[in-house]
Amino acid sequence: MTDVDRAALLQETAAKVTAYREQLSELAVSPKASSDELRSALGGPLPQAPTPANEVVDQLATGAEPGLVATTGPRYFGFVVGGSLDAAMCADILAAGWDQNAGLPVLSPAAAVAEEIAGEWVKDLLNIPADATFGFTTGGQASNTVGLVAARHRVLADAGWNVETQGLIGAPPITVIAGAERHVTIDRALRFLGIGTAAIQAVPTDANGAVDQAQLERAIADADGPTIVCLQAGNVNTGAFDNLARGCQAAHEHGAWVHVDGAFGLWAAASPSTQHLVEGVELADSWATDAHKWLNVPYDSGLVFCADASTHEAATSAGASYLAAPGNTEARTPFHYVTEASRRARGFAVWAALRQLGRDGVADLVERSCALARQFAKGLSAAPGFTIANDVVLNQVLVRFGDDDDLTDRLMAEIQRDGTCWMGGTTWHGHRYMRISVSNWSTRPDDVDRSVAAVIRAAEKLVGPRASSLR
Ligand SMILES: *Cc1c(COP(=O)(O)O)cnc(C)c1O
Repeated sequence: MTDVDRAALLQETAAKVTAYREQLSELAVSPKASSDELRSALGGPLPQAPTPANEVVDQLATGAEPGLVATTGPRYFGFVVGGSLDAAMCADILAAGWDQNAGLPVLSPAAAVAEEIAGEWVKDLLNIPADATFGFTTGGQASNTVGLVAARHRVLADAGWNVETQGLIGAPPITVIAGAERHVTIDRALRFLGIGTAAIQAVPTDANGAVDQAQLERAIADADGPTIVCLQAGNVNTGAFDNLARGCQAAHEHGAWVHVDGAFGLWAAASPSTQHLVEGVELADSWATDAHKWLNVPYDSGLVFCADASTHEAATSAGASYLAAPGNTEARTPFHYVTEASRRARGFAVWAALRQLGRDGVADLVERSCALARQFAKGLSAAPGFTIANDVVLNQVLVRFGDDDDLTDRLMAEIQRDGTCWMGGTTWHGHRYMRISVSNWSTRPDDVDRSVAAVIRAAEKLVGPRASSLR
């Protein structure tokens, strides 16, 4: 192996990251290269001989950059995607350089303690009870899975069944009550857990996508045996919130567990202007959220919380003689609260994001994103042919162009070709919509103005002056 000049290599790598991020606000959002072009740049047979590290990094950067999507830039509005804050991004670079295994405190007291602190801070911000346990996961999917593992443990234990030793065969059936517009990761978690999606009693939703409270209460009252209620804080299409206070109360009167999926919506608790949306959040039994969405931490980063420590630990902790190595045993053991054993130290980046923003900065990020979403809705609803479908209660906007689904889809394709901004599509309440999510710290009012103008330009390109007769 050739020796590398490590300092030069790291400086060159940092220069590449810097150059990319500095041009982000002017970069076309869509990728330039096709998958075939990327395959020819990065592919070929696995080389027989080693390659010096600096050449490898050069080849990767040159080959991959044309295929990057500027999701971390200010005009990416697809899915629900944040852009990494500088302190969080650099913390992740440190985490990679330090290469810590965050599973056990004996492997990294620093990673364990940073997670302890960041977990407490997030609970405080999101109005989750101070004595709740938490785990740092890969994201909302993993957090929903862990939350439902804890739920499964508790509702079956209450029915006299030990799922950890007995498994699910022969267990009392579990009923899962969830809104018709729950996130697909709830269904996938139930598949992983052996509960199965047929256990779901889907409760109809209202005009903005929140669960219908009267029908939820009826479903809870009618449920027999072990019952889990999944509530949603932030509908992925509309941003709508289920009524957490009333939902938790009805569920608890019936002895059911409440899991809240708040991948991005739980962050509404951080701002006085949106706090009312999550009223009663503290009453739930488990909570799932993302840090890589609205907190603007690099991928992959989520958190799961559980109100009852013994339930969380019974469901996910594990022990083995070799794990009890001598060394630090004073810090919390991160391993016990998630599904992974060895894993990267993702808590450093969460710590750094919270430290960079402070309480005021998180509130400001939430408020600004919501204000920019309203700016989008206002700008587009004033343009001919556009309709806003949802009540913009948070950071999500659903837009329709003209009357037929095909036109809205063609408009999205045209916007993506133009590259000024990026928006994804969705089918909601029977129609196709363009879905706009504002979740990035670096998006400014000017970015929204430019994006609205690009959308209108794309619409005119599609239908010409006919746009004004579309409504
Ligand atoms: C994004 C999202 C998820 C899934 O989160 P990942 O981080 O993509 O795993 C779950 N629920 C809701 C409401 C979401 O918006």
